[in-house]
Amino acid sequence: MTEHTDGQLAFDFDAMAREDARARLDEWEGAPLGFTRDYFTPTQLNEAFEHWKFLNGSLGSWKRSHMWHREGWNGDGTEFGDHRGEIVGAELGPEDGHEGPGGMLTQMICEPCEWHVIAEDDNAAVEAWHDHAVPGWRELPVLPATIRVRDGGATLSKLAMKWITERYPQHMQVPGAPIITERSPHGTRHVHHYSPWGGYDISHTALERPALAESTSPALRRELRPFTPASPAGHTRPAGHDLTR
Ligand SMILES: [Zn+2]
Repeated sequence: MTEHTDGQLAFDFDAMAREDARARLDEWEGAPLGFTRDYFTPTQLNEAFEHWKFLNGSLGSWKRSHMWHREGWNGDGTEFGDHRGEIVGAELGPEDGHEGPGGMLTQMICEPCEWHVIAEDDNAAVEAWHDHAVPGWRELPVLPATIRVRDGGATLSKLAMKWITERYPQHMQVPGAPIITERSPHGTRHVHHYSPWGGYDISHTALERPALAESTSPALRRELRPFTPASPAGHTRPAGHDLTR
């Protein structure tokens, strides 16, 4: 019975602390407890999201809060020189029972530079970060699909490694540097930590769209629209990334 009593007390304490925090919401000085396009560090965004979950519960919190959050697969980000790129995601989908398709946004943050980019998909954010942090990456040779890149796992095959080390410039064979590989139409995601130096394995399809800063494509203009929780009809970016819910 003692155990039961302790558990009850602990629960009551949590509930009281939550009520207290709700009553003092105006004293919150961290990142906004909702969607924002302003720059914050990954730690600030994480603290705000944790606080939101403390106040509102964590069930369905990505969808309910629209807040930036880390996704488990991304780990600790990618370092290159003085840069460190980290990815967070936000779900802008409408609440349950409301009309409209969902929407996902990806943000890549380079905290040492206080730089960030917000894009409609992970690949676009990753490409923009490389434009920011890894000048010249778009000129790297593309490893052809005729060469088997991996035998399983992240380790490159000997043949692929030989091909890359013989052709990539020395200054691009350093920690955090990317490689570019030719992909099949169904495997075009850029994969972090999959270059021999812990950087991204970038799909060759990245080179088919221009650098973000120079782009005047409809995709970029769309990205710069103000945020609306319920996306307008015809906006078909599917909700996804349900890996770590
Ligand atoms: Zn940077």
